[in-house]
Amino acid sequence: MTRSATPDAGRAGRLRWRIDIRGVVQGVGFRPFVHREAVAYHLTGKVVNTGQGVVIEAQGDEGALSRFVAALRSKAPAAAVLQDVTISPLPLVAETAFAIGRSEATGSPSAGIPADLALCPECLAELFDPGNRRFRYPFINCTNCGPRYTITRAIPYDRPQTSMAPFSMCNDCRAEYEDPADRRFHAQPNACPSCGPHLWLADAAGQRLAEREAAVAAAAERLQAGAILALKGIGGFHLAVDAANHEAVQRLRQRKGREEKPLAVMVRDPARARQLCRLTAAEEALLDSAAAPIVLAPKQPGHGLSPAVAPKSDRFGVMLAYAPLHHLLLAEGPAVLVMTSGNPSEEPICIDNQEALQRLAGIADFFLCHDRDILSRADDSVLWHLAGETRTIRRARGHVPRPILLAADGPAVLGVGGELKNTICCLKGDQAWVSQHLGDLKSLEGFAFFRETVAHLGRIYEVTPELVAHDLHPAYLSTRWAREQDGVPRLGVQHHHAHLAACLGENRHAGPAIGVILDGTGYGTDGTIWGGEVLIGDCREFRRFAHLAPMPLPGGDAAVAEPWRAGVGYLHAAYGGAVPELPFLQGHDVGALVAQLARRINCPETSSCGRLFDAVAAIAGGRPVIRYEAQAAIEFMQAGARLAGPAFPFELDPEHDTLVVAVAPLVRAVAEAVRGGATVAEVSARFHLTLVELFLEVVRRAAAATGLGTVALSGGVLQNHLLFVGLAERLQAAGFTVLTHGELPANDGCIAFGQAVVGRAWLMSRPKPW
Ligand code: ZN
Ligand code: ZN
Ligand code: FE
Repeated sequence: MTRSATPDAGRAGRLRWRIDIRGVVQGVGFRPFVHREAVAYHLTGKVVNTGQGVVIEAQGDEGALSRFVAALRSKAPAAAVLQDVTISPLPLVAETAFAIGRSEATGSPSAGIPADLALCPECLAELFDPGNRRFRYPFINCTNCGPRYTITRAIPYDRPQTSMAPFSMCNDCRAEYEDPADRRFHAQPNACPSCGPHLWLADAAGQRLAEREAAVAAAAERLQAGAILALKGIGGFHLAVDAANHEAVQRLRQRKGREEKPLAVMVRDPARARQLCRLTAAEEALLDSAAAPIVLAPKQPGHGLSPAVAPKSDRFGVMLAYAPLHHLLLAEGPAVLVMTSGNPSEEPICIDNQEALQRLAGIADFFLCHDRDILSRADDSVLWHLAGETRTIRRARGHVPRPILLAADGPAVLGVGGELKNTICCLKGDQAWVSQHLGDLKSLEGFAFFRETVAHLGRIYEVTPELVAHDLHPAYLSTRWAREQDGVPRLGVQHHHAHLAACLGENRHAGPAIGVILDGTGYGTDGTIWGGEVLIGDCREFRRFAHLAPMPLPGGDAAVAEPWRAGVGYLHAAYGGAVPELPFLQGHDVGALVAQLARRINCPETSSCGRLFDAVAAIAGGRPVIRYEAQAAIEFMQAGARLAGPAFPFELDPEHDTLVVAVAPLVRAVAEAVRGGATVAEVSARFHLTLVELFLEVVRRAAAATGLGTVALSGGVLQNHLLFVGLAERLQAAGFTVLTHGELPANDGCIAFGQAVVGRAWLMSRPKPW
């Protein structure tokens, strides 16, 4: 969104304007760009970086000033984001030139550090130009491209605060760095082969096999031969293999302990990507953006990659080369590389050379290392295009630490997130910094990454929170960490309320709204596990208007990993203890499970929408055991691929002041359809339609009860695009305003932000002691 205020111009003639710009305007080549445009429009004045963004003073003809401001918006560097442009008149001064001023270190540092940027076209051309002094130099960059957040220790974003500090620029580099007309003016990571970082290739024992540019050729050769290469990139190490080499891809899966979860691939350019995936113009633009994320897009027939890259998935996660090193490897080695995070499954990505040698021992055959340190680890971001908008699945490199603009100012609050897909979030002023994806906190490394990021964000943004907001789940490590923070107030925030508040906050909507939160697991205010919730509330409080009926989950987490167990639990409840004969039960010890259910031993009840998906998918004949999170639901959705009737029956039972969605009739109808010979595809299409109709009906009743016309959609289950698009479209057609996530993921990656938003609302509404 862009806000703008243009002062009354008065009479035509010469004017001086002060133009305040907020957004991502530092470290992205913005000041040299402003300088060029100002000169082109014959303006005098200056441009200065401040703690909040950029301030321009420009003087000239009124028409030229207007065109200048229009050009600032329309021609800004690719990585710049203009969030807020305010113009105010100044008295004319006597001057003859337009200058780039020194940075002003005033006020609070909210301009922060830019996100990492993919190699720009100019640097790419130089990289492959034999006549250029940076020919084949893997650390080429300029003000329009290169690492930023991942090499920065503290602000202001200046070379001594980055891991480029140990490299002192040669005369040629310094001349570029100091010349406002040069593309490398104040490019903090500026370097060349004679003064900058270098590569080397090592074997698994750490023995150096090749140095500098020869290391690239040697690594490319080994990739061609099917080796697994660990390579140090921008946000951490990747594990790479030739994506067309089936044996090599399988070996990588086996060594990494990653059985079926799709692996991302990297290619040189959009043309190559189009050979792998069917891409819309919007998807291609996303792929080619300065953030260079992994984009999920439908597979192209005849793609030529190993079937082990993304088995049973109808999509590939594809990204373009974003570091110079990637371009070199793809030019000299295989044309498509599997590029997966350099970590043992589900642990944080490795960033240090020694750490990689140790933690990736037994996985990688060779290590391509370099001596520019990574100071903040950041995985590749994962995005896709859905229902006309870009949606985020994992927000990390290229997107952090770009702030999320809030509707208003308020006290500083820290949200520490959930437990899986964790992020943390600091609110300060009218901005929120959501950390990169931190992942699963349950491993030692994961929890260390969490603590390191809390410290890092606090240091960078000088945030001293007035409140720490956390999940209600007492066993989450993030909750436990929060409870150990003495001397600062703490607030427990219900998981699905955090989802609702995150969606409201991201849309700068104050609420109240009807929140349809379809999720896997979240600790409820009653101590049970919630997850299929319709809440009514705002950022301060909520009430549980409706929820899916609680169903038993025999074995708890065991049933999450083995959806057939969820199927038995739901059938047991739906049929009053008599589990009917169904094909999916064959080969499983159903008797033992039924006995467990009858005696209610370790059978927690849950209103989770994710578990309902697992149970129905299993009953319909879907996958009995999963190899990665939500696999059963994903494959079930792919099998259906559309919404089709007739919907299964459901019932809404008022219980006190809450509406309970009876799941039993739905489960029985699914079981009957399967006994009648319905295929997985048929059951899936009907089940998705059922959920759309069901939640539409619940929302109608919530609207009738409250008069509200705004619906917020959040929760990991809404990453199911069939359900998400179907529900959003039907709600819109019914006249509702639908709020959805875009910048933040609908999954638990948004929880920290939601907690912080709730925490701030709580602080601001708290009765004052006076
Ligand atoms: Zn560049
Ligand atoms: Zn140099
Ligand atoms: Fe959640």
